[in-house]
Amino acid sequence: MTERLIIIGSGPAGLTAAIYAARANLQPFLIEGFQEGGIPGGQLMITTTIENFPGFPHAIQGPRLMANMREQAIKFGTRMTADDVTDADLSRRPFKFTTVNGENYTASALIVASGATARRLPLDSEKKYWGRGISACATCDGSLPVFRNKELAVIGGGDTAIEEALHLTQFASKVFLIHRRSELRASKVMQNRATSHPKITILWNKTVEEFSGEKTLNSLKLRDTVSGERSELAVAGAFEAIGHIPNTGFLKGHITTNDLGYIVTLPGSTRTNVEGVFAAGDVQDHKYRQAVTAAASGCMAAKEAEDWLRDQGCDC
Ligand SMILES: Cc1cc2nc3c(=O)[nH]c(=O)nc-3n(C[C@H](O)[C@H](O)[C@H](O)COP(=O)(O)OP(=O)(O)OC[C@H]3O[C@@H](n4cnc5c(N)ncnc54)[C@H](O)[C@@H]3O)c2cc1C
Repeated sequence: MTERLIIIGSGPAGLTAAIYAARANLQPFLIEGFQEGGIPGGQLMITTTIENFPGFPHAIQGPRLMANMREQAIKFGTRMTADDVTDADLSRRPFKFTTVNGENYTASALIVASGATARRLPLDSEKKYWGRGISACATCDGSLPVFRNKELAVIGGGDTAIEEALHLTQFASKVFLIHRRSELRASKVMQNRATSHPKITILWNKTVEEFSGEKTLNSLKLRDTVSGERSELAVAGAFEAIGHIPNTGFLKGHITTNDLGYIVTLPGSTRTNVEGVFAAGDVQDHKYRQAVTAAASGCMAAKEAEDWLRDQGCDC
């Protein structure tokens, strides 16, 4: 049976698309993901308090928010499977999909909402303090009480790292920007903002060798990449800003991506270069990467898919 609409991904983008598509009677089938590029529920499953998703003045836990979205999508008739898509043939319609569990699906329209995975430092101590002082999102976690008026670190040297550091200056007493080279990769404008900010100190030629602390993070063990000298830096929080990898491997190059690997959508739209394929959430958004923007683009994708299917005369 060919599905009308398949949605890949069960983060805020995929589940919002599912809620809208189900309410439009498209009977969407959602492939939630299992291990590849995240877990069912997406990135918010690995965090705790969400303070900036509208409607929750007293905050909500990430996994609770995602459980609510999932329940809402199912309530309106979304069918789901916890499986990973390994291969998508988008060269002709209906589109064809193969999964890790060996299932095959076909669909008239597709919404890709497979997110992006934050790069993380491959250290055992990083895993130990992840969520206990270490985060990959200063915009999300920087204002939490545990980080207020504390000395914090941002690891990275690109525009995102500087944006994160500048954001943190609103709450932190001091922000160390730890960069492994002697020059920042960020644009000149952003570099000037960082170097001229009284709360930001850049630690050049430094890499983190170990995160340490007790129950929560309280220091970083650093190594100088030029001299090899080791040092310790006391911080209450560390934010990794070393890039994201958009989860697009299963598309096997069928959809146009930009030089960072993000799916390119038409301006003001979720349409991709392949007719009938729409992209929503972090997989197509290098800039905002927030739950609310992901959810909003999921809504757009569902409405655009609905219009497109109607234009095709598709009662499929
Ligand atoms: C630690 C942390 C804290 C955060 N805190 C906040 C916050 O407080 N507020 C906020 O607004 N944002 C926060 N964010 C950002 C927010 O989580 C993301 O912007 C949002 O989850 C993006 O939603 P998405 O649906 O696009 O993708 P994701 O949430 O990444 O979901 C992608 C989904 O696709 C699935 N998938 C991937 N590949 C495949 C495949 N091959 N087959 C099938 N499924 C696949 C995954 O399993 C997953 O379910 C945080 C992020 C992190 C990492």
